[in-house]
Amino acid sequence: MKVLIAEDDPVSRRLLEATLRRWGYEVIACADGTTAWQILQQADAPQLVILDWMMPGMDGIQVCRAVRTRAAEPYVYILLLTARSQKSDIITGLEAGADDYLTKPFDTNELRMRLRAGRRILDLQAELIFAREALREQAMRDSLTRLWNRAAILSMLRQELERARRTQAPLSVVLADLDHFKKINDTYGHLAGDMALREAARRMRAAVRPYDAIGRYGGEEFLLVLPGCDAAAALALAQRLREAIAAEPLLLTEGKLALTLSLGVASRHPQADDTALIAAADAALYRAKRHGRNRVEVATLADFATAVPDVTLSPSFS
Ligand code: GH3
Ligand code: MG
Ligand code: MG
Ligand code: MG
Repeated sequence: MKVLIAEDDPVSRRLLEATLRRWGYEVIACADGTTAWQILQQADAPQLVILDWMMPGMDGIQVCRAVRTRAAEPYVYILLLTARSQKSDIITGLEAGADDYLTKPFDTNELRMRLRAGRRILDLQAELIFAREALREQAMRDSLTRLWNRAAILSMLRQELERARRTQAPLSVVLADLDHFKKINDTYGHLAGDMALREAARRMRAAVRPYDAIGRYGGEEFLLVLPGCDAAAALALAQRLREAIAAEPLLLTEGKLALTLSLGVASRHPQADDTALIAAADAALYRAKRHGRNRVEVATLADFATAVPDVTLSPSFS
């Protein structure tokens, strides 16, 4: 584990450094608080810190305060070293955000144990963060396909739409629906249908770029959010998705199963919000179904006009 030592006295600093290295820590040492604060602001900074109180530049207390005014993650465990041993000094140190303190001259074994306590806190916090992130991820995933679930993909759409508005960047969505899927359930059973859904999802995910988001919008319907994609790029991607499903039959335990996908594409329009954008893609999808399935249709201005009837859409949009 990495430890940062900030101590202006060279003899103490070298002694601390050598001791900690012997204990297996990876040590970064500096001689003043200002440098310590700079190091702590870098990416991948040490999370375990030994700060001397009295130092030139920022003192240990000021570094503590600076660390604590930042975001709480990743947590930095601070052990304050001080020649002061008045109760009021200790309270000042803890109030500034130190987790623990040692008065100089300190006992080596005590330092070792206090560092171990700090490490335990950091390990515990890392475990909690990991568990929390795993839960958050789980809450956003569709359990059958492992794609984003409906709530997650809709929230991503709103986020990306906001970003695209700010940066005036293109953004497209694709609504995809498996063709005659009911027949698969009716013919092969619901379990085979589930397997087909999973395999279709896997193929689609493999066909998109890492920054495209793909979610399960409904039963056998999928919503893709494509940041940076204009209508032409989204159309090309939709065709790729269509081919990814149609090119080869799905291999199920029941045998080979031919499956196709119909898709509707809609690109960001300044006067259309998330709901209108999806409605326009849905209108295009409906047209793809009507025109024989296994095909892609792009939303027209008329589709948008139906989606946002109370707004006059700028005709420059195509
Ligand atoms: P179309 O080409 O018009 O889309 O026809 P379709 O049969 O795909 O459309 P419809 O909406 O009539 O039926 C969708 C079917 O998808 C009905 C439902 O049983 C099936 N389905 C939805 N979710 C699941 C699921 O999680 N597992 C399985 N096995 N089937 C599902
Ligand atoms: Mg000092
Ligand atoms: Mg369908
Ligand atoms: Mg459907």
